[in-house]
Formats: sequence, C-alpha cells, structure tokens
Amino acid sequence: MPQNDVILVVNAGSSSIKFSLYPAAEDGAPGYGEPRGGGLIEGIGVHPQFKADIGDKTFKDGWPDGAGLNHEHFYGFLLDWLAREAPHCAVAAAGHRVVHGGTAFAAPVVVDAEVLSALEELVPLAPLHQPHNVAGIRALSERAPDIPQVACFDTAFHRSIPARDQLYGLPLSLADQGLRRYGFHGLSYEFIAGALPHYDAEAAAGRTVVAHLGNGASLCALQDGRSRACTMGFSTLDGLIMGTRCGAIDPGVLIYLLREKGLDADGLEKLLYKESGLLGLSGLSADMRDLLASGKPEARQAVEMFCDRVAQQVASLAAMLGGLDAVVFTAGIGERSAPIRAAICQRLAWLGAELDTAANEAGTARIAAAGSRLGLWVVPTDEEAMIARHTRRLLAGSPAETARA
Ligand code: ADP
Repeated sequence: MPQNDVILVVNAGSSSIKFSLYPAAEDGAPGYGEPRGGGLIEGIGVHPQFKADIGDKTFKDGWPDGAGLNHEHFYGFLLDWLAREAPHCAVAAAGHRVVHGGTAFAAPVVVDAEVLSALEELVPLAPLHQPHNVAGIRALSERAPDIPQVACFDTAFHRSIPARDQLYGLPLSLADQGLRRYGFHGLSYEFIAGALPHYDAEAAAGRTVVAHLGNGASLCALQDGRSRACTMGFSTLDGLIMGTRCGAIDPGVLIYLLREKGLDADGLEKLLYKESGLLGLSGLSADMRDLLASGKPEARQAVEMFCDRVAQQVASLAAMLGGLDAVVFTAGIGERSAPIRAAICQRLAWLGAELDTAANEAGTARIAAAGSRLGLWVVPTDEEAMIARHTRRLLAGSPAETARA
C-alpha cells in the first residue's frame, strides 16, 4: 500500500456530509491511525458551507449555487477538490457510516450491486438517514467505480444481543417483518469496547454500561466486550431523552396524537425527532451547554430529567447484565460535561458509584474515587477511526471484528 494512500471516511446526514482522510496503511498502535485531514459541508439545501483542513491548510467556502447543491454533486466536487488540493493523497478506498444494516449485516461489508440494493431495501427502517448514506455510496461508485467502498453499520455491533431481547411485546409475526430492537451507535460502542481493556481490564471482561451522551444519546450494556443490550431499539428515538428526540414514550401517546391532535405520520416524525427532548422540554435549546448556563426553571428541569432517565436506564441495563462493574461516559456531553457526569453518578450511588470530584472536573480518564465499588471512566469515542479501521482491514482481506455475533 503506497505511503500516501488514504481512506476516505464519509458520514452523511440529511443536511451535512462529514469526511475525513485516514492513512490506508496500518500505522497506529491500536491500528486506527491519525487522520491526515477532513472537513464537512453543512447547510445542504439551505445555505451550504464547505470547510476542510488538510495538513496545515484550511479551506472555507460558500457554495455559489447553494440551493441547487445536492448530495450527489458534493461527492463529485470532493474528489475533484482532493485531486487539486491534496494531489499527494490517492483515495484507496471509501468507508461509509451506514445507519442500518438490518438483521442481515452483522459486520461491515464491501459494497457491490447486491449489497447496495439490500441497503436500499432498509430505507423504510431508517428513512431520515439511510437514503443519504446510500446516495453517498451510489454517487461515489458512479463517479469513481474503481474505488472500493465499505459500509459500516450503526446496528452491526448489536447483533450479539440475545434473540429474546430483540423482541417487543408485539405479535411474534411482526418481529419476522422487521419490527424488532436493532440498537444504534454501534461504531461508537465497538470503539469503546476495543479501548476499555487499556483502562479497566476487569470491567472490560465483565459488565459495563457505556453512556454515549451526545446530541443523539443511548446506553449500551457490554458483557465481555460484546453488546448485550442497547436503549435505542427499532429506531433512534427510544431510550434516553436526547437533544431533540423524545426517548422512551408510552405508545398510547402516539395513538392519541394521531387521533385527537390531527397529526399525520410526517407531523409525528417531526415532533418526535426534531421538536422534543431537551429542546421541547426547555423551550430554549437542544444544546446541553445552553441549558446548564440558563437560569430558566424549564431548562433546569430538562437537565434533571435527562440525568434521571440516564440513571434509570443504567439500572435497567444492570439488571439485564446481572450486576455492574463500570460505567463509561463518552460523546459530546459524556466527554465534556463534568456537572452532568456528577449528577448521573450521584443517582448511581446505590449501585456503588463514588466520584472523585477533582478528577471529574479535571476530565481525566478515571473519575472513580479510590474506594468506589463501580469503575467510572471517561473515554473519548471515535466512530470515524473505527470506520477507517474496518475499511483498512476488509481491504486487506481480514475478517471484520464485528462479525462475532
Ligand atoms: P452528535 O450526536 O451530533 O455526534 P456530539 O457527540 O458531538 O453529537 O455531542 C454534541 C453535544 O454535546 C452538543 O449538542 C452539546 O449538547 C454537548 N456538549 C458539547 N460540549 C459540551 C460541554 N462542554 N458541556 C455540556 N455539553 C456539551
């Protein structure tokens, strides 16, 4: 593999596409490698802005015909831009974050025509994200058919969840039609599961709850490094209260909203995904920093509810694990907010959580006090590095590690 070859890692959302460039040759100690650059385009469909860093060069650009830009145009632009601005970096492969792999994909996969149509069939399961993920793969393969592409799934890591725990209390025939718990944030959890032995070997071989607390938020119960349960289920709405998503809700509420409040499916989707959670509760912001800085009672209540829900669901996962050895905090809020970690740990005191306040405020990896029965850790996650690693390994012909399910 030539020294300058890179893996293009792509994370496509509805209004933004993020990319990063990782060395194609294995060069990092744990096999991840340091990114050589990256960037994003945001505001697609409204007012697109492109920003990127490569080496020590920074680029920032508006889009001349902003409203007309779509995802497909962007990939063509990106390849041209890379050839022009980073001619030393040849794209050896592309690794895509794909939200849904259904029950079929328990590991990352090299994309061919058959895989691509299987991914398209999964669009109804994740209509807000899957179309953009698939569009990115399709656009790149049309533009550069010789670049191999790898799909890395948010669901794949959770295929190890026992069959019974994938079911809802619905007629069993509906599970066969796809109505089951899939779990998400799997690339983040897989990264943490890989890193945990370096921090706490005992917990890594035992029972850990990982709290991925970002704009989207979920918990994963890890048993011996494998996913045993996830608070997100059929969709990314379930579980915790998130930036703008409602989290677990009585399904009777949905029937009432449809029947009595005149909402249709699209209105319900908008309410539950975009207008609920911290934003809906506070009437102020989806950003935890804004809520922590606000004196508004509704903002304070939203923060308390967020922490209550995390603690309640840690306890629920601890019951599934039959006990608990450690809690790991990760993602935007988990990695950066000492007050939120403290409020959650206080609620977990009965499970043996005892925080080292100074360590928590300093943001060190170990935040448990010396006598704490529960291990408490802050571990930065890196989904892009995980995708780069999978892509690199699949291209080298090694089996992907997620395929343990
Ligand atoms: P995403 O789910 O979009 O990948 P991130 O994991 O990057 O999100 O988390 C973003 C969120 O993290 C922000 O919306 C904000 O609420 C929160 N956040 C970031 N920094 C802090 C901080 N210092 N204190 C509290 N919350 C923070």
